[in-house]
Amino acid sequence: MRLQRPLPPGSTIGILGSGQLGRMTALAAARLGLGCHIYAPERNSPAFQVAAAHTVSTYDDLAALARFARTVDVVTYEFENVPAATAAFFEGKVALAPGARALAVAQDRVDEKSFIASLGITVAPFAAVTDEENLAMAVAKLGRPAILKTRRLGYDGKGQVKIDTATDLAAAFAAIGKAPAILEGYVSFDKEISVIAARGWDGEVAVYDVPENVHRHHILHTSTVPARISAAITEEARELGRRIAAALDYVGVIGVEMFVGAQGLLVNEFAPRVHNSGHWTMDACLVSQFEQHVRAICGWPLGDPSRHSDAVMTNLLGDDAALWARLAAEPYAGLHLYGKTEARPGRKMGHINRLTPRQG
Ligand code: AMP
Repeated sequence: MRLQRPLPPGSTIGILGSGQLGRMTALAAARLGLGCHIYAPERNSPAFQVAAAHTVSTYDDLAALARFARTVDVVTYEFENVPAATAAFFEGKVALAPGARALAVAQDRVDEKSFIASLGITVAPFAAVTDEENLAMAVAKLGRPAILKTRRLGYDGKGQVKIDTATDLAAAFAAIGKAPAILEGYVSFDKEISVIAARGWDGEVAVYDVPENVHRHHILHTSTVPARISAAITEEARELGRRIAAALDYVGVIGVEMFVGAQGLLVNEFAPRVHNSGHWTMDACLVSQFEQHVRAICGWPLGDPSRHSDAVMTNLLGDDAALWARLAAEPYAGLHLYGKTEARPGRKMGHINRLTPRQG
């Protein structure tokens, strides 16, 4: 269901999911005089601390979802694994943005790659895998190295295994739990970049500058703007972001991950939500990706996405955040901590945006 009219200050955004992305969205909404009601199964969540209302229940609790829907003016989500049935539940009751189609496509890596390829955009060569036999056929076709990924529910390198010259295929398939999978040819790339774009209900689009992303152990480590890529590649990447958002009739912020290599730009995947590689916008732009998402889904004019500073965003994982006092003392840096009490290794505890005056 589409939004019937722009939501004035005082309206309430419903957010499915209660992690740091929901938290930062709620903070951005508060700045515009909008409230948030967070719905999630987990107790003691980062987003609950900063929102006026929250509901703790499962995503299949139809009674709780119905109560939630009655208290909010629009529903969004901060993670892409919201069950399709939950998204469908809101149909006809309250506006949902991004819509159920973007969610469904993003949830299945084969559908996602097929959709992107159908737009004439280059993706890694891929094949669907359902059993060991067609895994062997796919490896014979795509060659080694290749990457085997579960079709659904993978993130930060989970549910993935690289298939090298010596990798035993049965063991690789077992390592991902013999789940329906995608095999992707291994792309040799120079850089990973991403496009953070916002699209409104009326089709207006705003695209941020392109960050260059470095991962460590499959988790984003830094995002740097500007990326060290040509102006032509930057514009091409932004255009791909616009095209994907338009083709999905998307509303909200979308994060599109890409590889830059000798063969040009390849799209890896998109996230139907605000994205970790867009966190630098909180300090290097007047309107952050979180505020932009709020503006888009609430039918407001989109904000100016231009960047007033160069920036390096560094994720603070696990014990990194224990250095908060030192980080907080850094000049020209924005520190963001997510209010998580337990610092498990690899857990995203916060991030810091280190700014320098804009060079170009
Ligand atoms: P993903 O879960 O698809 O975001 O993949 C996680 C990371 O694995 C990416 O950020 C890349 O660094 C790497 N990766 C994913 N797919 C490929 C591929 N087809 N070829 C080479 N590296 C890849």
